[in-house]
Amino acid sequence: MHISGTTTLLGLIGSPVEHSKSPAMYNHCFQTFGLDWAYLAFNIPLEKTGEAVQAIRTLHMRGANVTMPCKSAVIPYLDKLTPAAQAIHAVNTIVNEDGVLVGHNTDGCGYTQNLRRNGVEVKGKKIVLLGGGGAASAITVQAALEGAAEIAVFNLRDSFWAQIQQRMDTIAHTAPDCKISLQDLNDRDALKDAIARCDILSNATRVGMAPYEDQSNITDLSWYRPDLVVTDVVYAPPATKMLREAQAAGCKTCDGLGMLLCQGAEAFRLYSGLEMPVEEIRTLLYS
Ligand code: NAD
Repeated sequence: MHISGTTTLLGLIGSPVEHSKSPAMYNHCFQTFGLDWAYLAFNIPLEKTGEAVQAIRTLHMRGANVTMPCKSAVIPYLDKLTPAAQAIHAVNTIVNEDGVLVGHNTDGCGYTQNLRRNGVEVKGKKIVLLGGGGAASAITVQAALEGAAEIAVFNLRDSFWAQIQQRMDTIAHTAPDCKISLQDLNDRDALKDAIARCDILSNATRVGMAPYEDQSNITDLSWYRPDLVVTDVVYAPPATKMLREAQAAGCKTCDGLGMLLCQGAEAFRLYSGLEMPVEEIRTLLYS
């Protein structure tokens, strides 16, 4: 890679970042397209968030991806937010538009784009979404903005319940044509009924990743049917227990790794206007 006196910097901010594959992914794309850009990961604790955003301005960086714990903390330091980022109060991509810092959240686009790559559009669809955390919120707002008819969110009735209800109300306000509800994940009758009526069943809980890798929120396999699309946000492992069982029951499945790559591709498109070679990156970094 050629670094010169004109090279433009981009980066990842958050903590920890040492394990991140983002530098390899974006630098490969810069090289592929001949962009005089370089991407580094910066370990930024929560209390340094403001200084990190100021550095984007000072160093004339093209932008930065944002990971935990900085996703909400960057917001007061930005100039503009997209409606999706505003509704879920979380930013994972900052683009420097000639000194104006715009906060985006590409997780939801990553989800819908991954579905699209598998021949599924969310417009007009009924979705059952397991989980109400960060990933679930991003999926809900994007699917609602893209015209999903109904999103039934199921979460454990835990200490986050009121906060999730409030966020879902904000999303419903942002995309009023979509019917959004929140129900208890332990209400198995309501869940069974909702899955029987839906087109897409999506896991956005941590179930499926360590230490829950041998678990699935769906324990009755008769709830799966061949015309149901089943998706997971968990990307390690890419083939979760839920996806394996759904696939065995004849469902079309979309994995969390596809979503992860597509959210990165969306950020790359925002930075450069170019299309990331998603399959090439998947092979290069994850096989
Ligand atoms: P979060 O902490 O904001 O939310 C976690 C969710 O999981 C909550 O709804 C919580 O109630 C639920 N949950 C946790 N343990 C549970 C259990 N034992 N049973 C039932 N529900 C349980 O986390 P997040 O940021 O939303 O991340 C959730 C998952 O999504 C993680 O595995 C993360 O790696 C993944 N993720 C993937 C992508 C992607 O691009 N593929 C993007 C963001 C997050």
